[in-house]
Amino acid sequence: MSPRDLPIYELESAVTAALRTSGRLIVQAPTGSGKSTQIPQMLLQHGLLGERGEVVVLQPRRLATRMLAKRVAEEMGTPLGDVVGYQIRLESRLSEKTRIRFVTEGILLRQMSFDAALRGVSTIVFDEFHERHLYGDISLARALQLQQTTRPDLKLIVMSATLDTGLLKTYLAPCEILVSQGRSFPVRIEYLPKSVNFDNEPVWEIAARECERVAGESSGDMLVFMPGAYEISRTVQAIQGNRALREFVTFPLHGELPPEQQDRAVARYEARKIIVSTNVAETSLTIDGVTTVIDCGLARVARFDPHRGINTLLIEKISAASADQRAGRAGRTAPGVCVRLWTEREHGQRAPQELPEVKRLDLSEVVLTLKASGIDDIANFPWLEKPEPKALERAETLLADLGALAGGKRTITELGRTMLRFPVHPRYARMFLAAQERGCVRPVALMAALTQGRNFLLRGGSKEVEQAREDTLGEEHESDFFLLMRAWRYADKANYSLDACRRLGIHAQGARQVGPLFEQFLAIAEKEGLDVTERRTDGTEIRKCVLAGFSDQLAKRLDGGTLRCELVHNRKGLLARESGIQQAPLFVAAEISEVGGRGGEVNTLLSLATAIEEAWLKEIFPDDYREVRAVTYDESIKRVVSRRERRFRDLVLEAKSSSDEAPLNEAAALLTKEVLAGRLKLEAWDEAVEQWITRVNRLAEWFPELEVNPLTDADRATLIEQICYGELGYRDIKDKPVMPILKDWLTAEQLAVIDDYLPEKLTMANGRRSRITYAREGPPVLSARIQELYGIEGKFTLGHGRVAVKIEVLAPNQRPIQVTDDLTNFWREQYPKIKAELSRRYPRHEWR
Ligand code: ADP
Ligand code: MG
Repeated sequence: MSPRDLPIYELESAVTAALRTSGRLIVQAPTGSGKSTQIPQMLLQHGLLGERGEVVVLQPRRLATRMLAKRVAEEMGTPLGDVVGYQIRLESRLSEKTRIRFVTEGILLRQMSFDAALRGVSTIVFDEFHERHLYGDISLARALQLQQTTRPDLKLIVMSATLDTGLLKTYLAPCEILVSQGRSFPVRIEYLPKSVNFDNEPVWEIAARECERVAGESSGDMLVFMPGAYEISRTVQAIQGNRALREFVTFPLHGELPPEQQDRAVARYEARKIIVSTNVAETSLTIDGVTTVIDCGLARVARFDPHRGINTLLIEKISAASADQRAGRAGRTAPGVCVRLWTEREHGQRAPQELPEVKRLDLSEVVLTLKASGIDDIANFPWLEKPEPKALERAETLLADLGALAGGKRTITELGRTMLRFPVHPRYARMFLAAQERGCVRPVALMAALTQGRNFLLRGGSKEVEQAREDTLGEEHESDFFLLMRAWRYADKANYSLDACRRLGIHAQGARQVGPLFEQFLAIAEKEGLDVTERRTDGTEIRKCVLAGFSDQLAKRLDGGTLRCELVHNRKGLLARESGIQQAPLFVAAEISEVGGRGGEVNTLLSLATAIEEAWLKEIFPDDYREVRAVTYDESIKRVVSRRERRFRDLVLEAKSSSDEAPLNEAAALLTKEVLAGRLKLEAWDEAVEQWITRVNRLAEWFPELEVNPLTDADRATLIEQICYGELGYRDIKDKPVMPILKDWLTAEQLAVIDDYLPEKLTMANGRRSRITYAREGPPVLSARIQELYGIEGKFTLGHGRVAVKIEVLAPNQRPIQVTDDLTNFWREQYPKIKAELSRRYPRHEWR
């Protein structure tokens, strides 16, 4: 079949027409339609790239990037690296002549950080966009910004097999959408009849068994999906060891294989073929001739791991949408069958879709990249989907702690820029830079690898295992990493033999995964010119590197007796019981996990600990380490005390009470705070004081012309501070008089005016003096028992007749029975109605 027969050519004229009039295009067509290989060629052939312009095709996977470039070069009859080239991390095939360039997603963003206008690039194709990788999202946002500013001529094409085009359509508007249905044949889906636990029955054995079972059903090739290199090689072994599958040639396909082996997997053979692949064959690559798919339902998924504060790749169940894509691989050229290694019931419980990476990954690396391009306000970056504000904040805080951001976490530092050279999580970049200085790049690369995988040192082993571990690996008091490193070396030397590993309680498969990661970290370090030679290194230097990368997880033991700790950023935690670092007062935890305890409380468990010395904090983070004299209020003795403190960021490393007296103004301020919060009570601050303040305030309100200032809340605080001034403890202020200080606030004339206008008591016509109560709102109130009011008529006023007074008439028991403005009215209207009842209740009083 010639490539020109591929379904995508239905859209050829529409694609070219759209791009001549518009700068944005969405192409949606099923896998295998010819999007990745044909669209770039169309652009070139129809002159849409101009004289010398280049199309850059963004790919989520390294393996697919190289293979697509190779395939397109072959179709065009040119050597790879000539007109068609590719560029992935640590590897590229390009030349002056290259017009079609396949790249992995991170590459373009990096190019933008030193060539903001992307000169020479005429079109960017965002392939496999449905995968919604973080770098894809961000590259698209940046490309749009570029198109809207300096590069209006730049063309953008977003391609995908399945796509929620709704969201994208509004994001890219105005934008044309071209859809091709492609061609496909029906695929029969089979599930396992019974649920299987892969821990008891290895997934590769089940896969091989199912291959055997369905081999006779068709004459086509088979495609088996496995999560990673290790499972793939076990599956290949299992298939090759199965006599019933002798007629098949079997090939692994994953990113860690050498290119020749990858090419062998997609080549055509006389014999029937079984390809055992990662999810690169899900939508990125199409392998012709497949009619049977065996899907284990698992994939390695990158996800932020809050325990480790980094992204990790762990094996997880794929979504139902992914499973459908995988099944579709069987129906490309003829009707096919897909066997799912899970039950139909289990299928119903799978997530319908993967979360986009922007919602599930740690953002610190991306934030650093954006800051390097001068985007300081990350929250208002034009995201396709905004990340959680918490996730952004976490990223910025971590970057600031690593020394990569300054200026209130806004701008990138020199150190931050240097860290960006390393295409790894900023934590590791920071550790690498420290390691280069301290001559321990190799061990640091190993530690980085160790934190990436699952913990392979099993807990809760038997006495014998514990003993064997101690005999073989020795004890460890400096860093849990060191024990882990020795355990890994032991397992590696033993070639991950199950027996050798079991003896020390090592999860062989977990340990095995560290090797390739270690190699990868070393390769990156070497490429950046770090010294990766093997040499004797000092444990102290390595621990300092751990500190550089994990200073945001510095913990201080609260006491020797318990495992309780305080951490920077105001957190508390418990050192894990199994940690060997039980003696150190200070350490950093490379893992933090929250464990629900009894009664719903959450314990923060700190593990993978490394002992730290305080002097290193000062040495490595001079700006974050401070010695201060702190004056604090000590609740237990109700007294202001003065301390000398050494702090790392917000964590108090040590506080010693000091004999020097606290400065009086600071002490007064602290005591005032306690009084205002109601935790300390001034006995003399009574109702009379409050009445007095209210009188002043009402006077200011009712008679502004008298120019008496009201007493505000701030004045109250000042007043309390005056009372507290000169004292250190509650005992000294408890009974201090308030009134004299309060009265000092006003002049003698003002005091006289208050007594004149708003007196404390009012003398009535019968010569009695009754108390007036002033409130924040409403009129003043005179309260008097009925008997005291006999013979008095009319209304009362204060302030030379300008403020009306309410009269509260009290029963003999001092309870109010009536409120009135006018006593004459009261005697006439209300009194006759209540008199009988009152005289019956209080017969011994006089009732006129
Ligand atoms: P899409 O991107 O729409 O999934 P591709 O452009 O990748 O489609 O592939 C279109 C067709 O080209 C495939 O169906 C396959 O037949 C062929 N093809 C692509 N890459 C290769 C390759 N490396 N080797 C052999 N055939 C290939
Ligand atoms: Mg494709």
